[in-house]
Amino acid sequence: MKALYIIRKVDELGRIVLPMGLRREFNISEHDAIEFFVEDDKIIMKKYEPACIFCHSAVDISIFEGRNICKKCAQKITTLTKEVNAPATKNDLGDQS
Ligand SMILES: [Zn+2]
Repeated sequence: MKALYIIRKVDELGRIVLPMGLRREFNISEHDAIEFFVEDDKIIMKKYEPACIFCHSAVDISIFEGRNICKKCAQKITTLTKEVNAPATKNDLGDQS
């Protein structure tokens, strides 16, 4: 866990302002949902992203590098990666011989 020391006061309605730097770092915008967890004596908050970050599907979601990705998009990325890494063929080079 990255150490960060920021103090914010809770207002009369129980609200606190998330520091701009954290909102930027965690890509949190106005009206985004935040989920809260409690661990021992800590309150942990996290941007709520239940769907795939690419297609917004909520089916077959897994977490990759801290982001949600669905099985279909993961397969598309795998296919794309294979195409990028494949050596060029004669047809790719326009060779008609
Ligand atoms: Zn997807």
